Amino acid sequence: MKKQPPILNKSRKFSDNMASAHALVVKAKRGEKGNTNGKGYAVPAFNVTTFQGINAAMKAFELLGSSGLMAFSNSALKHFGDGDQVFGLDVATSYIEKMAKRSSVKIATHLDHGDYVTEPGRKVLQAAVQRLTSVMADNSTDHANKVAMPLQDNIDLTREVVDMAHPVGLSVEGELGVLAGEEDEDTKSDFSTYTNPDELKQFVEETGVLMLAPTIGTMHGPNKGKPGHKVKLNIPLAHELLATANEINNDIVFVAHGASTLYPQVVEYAVEQLDKMSGRDEDKQKWNDFVGTDWDQIEGLIEAGFCKINTDTENRQTFLSALLGAINENSAKIDIRWYDNQGTDALIKSYIQKLIMAGNYGVWHEPKMNVEKFKFDLGISLSDLISQSV
Ligand SMILES: [Zn+2]
Repeated sequence: MKKQPPILNKSRKFSDNMASAHALVVKAKRGEKGNTNGKGYAVPAFNVTTFQGINAAMKAFELLGSSGLMAFSNSALKHFGDGDQVFGLDVATSYIEKMAKRSSVKIATHLDHGDYVTEPGRKVLQAAVQRLTSVMADNSTDHANKVAMPLQDNIDLTREVVDMAHPVGLSVEGELGVLAGEEDEDTKSDFSTYTNPDELKQFVEETGVLMLAPTIGTMHGPNKGKPGHKVKLNIPLAHELLATANEINNDIVFVAHGASTLYPQVVEYAVEQLDKMSGRDEDKQKWNDFVGTDWDQIEGLIEAGFCKINTDTENRQTFLSALLGAINENSAKIDIRWYDNQGTDALIKSYIQKLIMAGNYGVWHEPKMNVEKFKFDLGISLSDLISQSV
């Protein structure tokens, strides 16, 4: 008989206003806001890749009184650290901790698709256990050989991470089943499989993970299937998996990967900008071909306990769309900050929109804006959008 996996040490004190992702997500699963209990909501995990991205996310959390979750991919850490992931982890984390000290909400930092298979990946994951507040151990795919990892190997590797992280208060997210699509250079797969409920039971019992990413038909990247065809998720399977997980421990939360919902107004705005430039027909076609997951599908997932929703592609698109607009508006302004601010303001709008959609507002304090009146529009300045909605 194997030893029981270690339980998550919930008395761990993180730096001021920092919390484990699990603490924030389980609160969302139970619908806790302030002192009230209501309908369950979700915590979007924003994949931040730049300091301005962090500023944008913090601003959105503050405005809405949201539970904040920022995730780092391995390649984002490389970007933060000038090529050195562990250095990038240290620098970005220090920055967030300083921001959190003066924050009015709770913030979690998370390693997305942590790699515990290769030696360089392990170094990053071990450093992340020292510096972040939660980690994902993605052992469901043998990325080098592009095949699914055998279940027992996935269990054994994930359990090693739980053994390391739970005693020091870090929640661990495991992945079961293989997700198709491309997230970044580290996360790519041409195939996908659904998660099997029996395997889920075995996985959760043997690893002890409280956060789990099962696969129910979501896909990484901006092209989720053929243009014109809607993505259909397996919601009945999601409910079946939730029932299985709740029987073991109803502190278990599910995570939706590859669940980007594209904003039609962002695509429209980008195409409008490309219309003003010559020779951009191919790019325009690419924008028109982007396929996301409809929000009603994601709402179905939230009801099935998927309370951490990874959110990346739509924010990247919003940033780029705004940048195209900035260049069309003025391409002779010699001021990095001006372009930077256009992109950052767009990210803030995108984050606000997603937090409102997910129901993640008024958690730590009343929103400082009227969420009902907020209308996401790249053509209107952020300050006007916020003051109009007060
Ligand atoms: Zn993912």
